[in-house]
Amino acid sequence: MKTDVLIAGAGPVGLTMASELSRYGLSVRLVDKNTQRTDKSKAIVLWARTLELINRMSPNCADRFIETGLKTESVNILSGSEHIGHADMKEVDSKYKFVVMIPQSDTERLLEEHLATFNIKAERQTELTDFKETSDGVTYVLKHADGSEETAEASWLIGADGAHSIVRHKLNKEFHGSTLLSDWMLADIYLTGVQGTPAINIYWHADGILALFPLQGTRHRIIANVGESSGPIGEGNRPAPTVEDIQRVLDTRGPGGIKAEDSVWRSNFSINERKVDDYRSGRVFVAGDAAHVHSPAGGQGMNTGMQDAFNLTWKLALVSRGICQPEPLLSSYSAERSPVAKVLLEFTGRATEAALLRGGVKQSIRNHVASLVLGFAPVTHTMANLLSEISIGYSDSPLNAHTQHPRHGVKPGKRALIRENEPPVGFGDAPRFALFAESNNLPSALLLKYSALLEATPRAPLSPDSLSLVRPDGYVALATKSGDWNAVDAYLNQFLPKAS
Ligand SMILES: Cc1cc2nc3c(=O)[nH]c(=O)nc-3n(C[C@H](O)[C@H](O)[C@H](O)COP(=O)(O)OP(=O)(O)OC[C@H]3O[C@@H](n4cnc5c(N)ncnc54)[C@H](O)[C@@H]3O)c2cc1C
Repeated sequence: MKTDVLIAGAGPVGLTMASELSRYGLSVRLVDKNTQRTDKSKAIVLWARTLELINRMSPNCADRFIETGLKTESVNILSGSEHIGHADMKEVDSKYKFVVMIPQSDTERLLEEHLATFNIKAERQTELTDFKETSDGVTYVLKHADGSEETAEASWLIGADGAHSIVRHKLNKEFHGSTLLSDWMLADIYLTGVQGTPAINIYWHADGILALFPLQGTRHRIIANVGESSGPIGEGNRPAPTVEDIQRVLDTRGPGGIKAEDSVWRSNFSINERKVDDYRSGRVFVAGDAAHVHSPAGGQGMNTGMQDAFNLTWKLALVSRGICQPEPLLSSYSAERSPVAKVLLEFTGRATEAALLRGGVKQSIRNHVASLVLGFAPVTHTMANLLSEISIGYSDSPLNAHTQHPRHGVKPGKRALIRENEPPVGFGDAPRFALFAESNNLPSALLLKYSALLEATPRAPLSPDSLSLVRPDGYVALATKSGDWNAVDAYLNQFLPKAS
């Protein structure tokens, strides 16, 4: 039987894709070449926007991630005892006014458990080795643990197969960017002597950077640069740091008084900053690390990948279920998500560059300028929204309506306000747009024509005298004046399959 979607890779992005597509009724096959999910903490931050989107997967779904992790409210930049800057997550324009610190192994476990509610499990030790696009699907080859090969078909293929993606390679997509010429150490380690409430603390020191992330109990993540790249560019240039190496970095760059105890994981890595231009080729998509990799400076990689999944899945579901024609929905995936990764790469690249600046004079100018800028309240508010990915939007999206009354409501492409005691837009078993409008004079013919695309009942307007149409992923599609039903009709009509 032909599956609707084959997803290669059961990391956080593949698991999110599989969950969302299953929720929207598509048949999904999720394969992974590894024997089990990661047991490493890798990405340890879930930001507010990701939590909002997780909460759309099933009622109160985000609570399970919040209860498992540790809530943290501050991100600080320090230099010795000098406090340089601060982003206060309590200022984020979301109900999630905090960051959840949670090891990626737990995030993947919770996603797997959620996926199991649709009776779907990742097929482990199953490697995608080849594929070919046909006129109405994709023929693919899987290699199983016993060495046997299976050839099968799907209507669509999603490569969520990580930084070394075979899907990206086979599509001949260039992974533009570079690998930084610096080596980094990483440790998940138990620390004593850390003062204050749990916070993400980044220390700028003359020798380099030390970032300290709190996890549950006394467990912490430490990241520090350890010098110029010592060998061929890539991972594993140096042996993993010893506990003594870690203690030395803590003593030199940290606030003092912190003692490293037992470690859970010690490793080293180098930073890749790369992305593909186009996330799609016909019936094949790439997402997550397969499409973009970043410096871990901002802790944004996994979050951005999971949000790729939230962007693509409702579009693919509407097309696959025959409710919408493929265009413009499917090409909007790359048009929207590729610029997000581009801006993120610039941001994390600049943050890493600032942190790695060498030379006393340059460093003291950096510290002075940063403390001036980051002491300015509107900047810290913007920083908090930026880090938490709340400010991500699609201002240049081909899906934005060009209405004549842009002053009404929130601009197309922006995230729509999420109101308490309303189900999030896009909830349930079918992706539907939501109308936020006064419902008097709402033509019943409009609701009837778009019954598969629109929620049956309008919600209260987002602002007085406004009519807004919000996409199933919670971004505004159209904003106009109250009663402008023609604009809604014209907008939604572009998606309907055209009689051939
Ligand atoms: C040390 C470290 C720290 C990090 N810290 C953060 C952080 O704080 N915040 C953050 O947001 N991000 C962070 N990241 C990045 C984050 O881990 C990745 O962005 C995230 O794992 C990407 O998820 P993914 O699903 O796209 O890919 P992956 O997690 O890499 O998953 C890809 C999956 O595809 C499978 N696969 C590969 N090829 C095939 C094939 N041919 N067939 C079948 N399966 C295949 C692999 O086995 C793997 O399970 C960190 C990464 C590292 C290494």
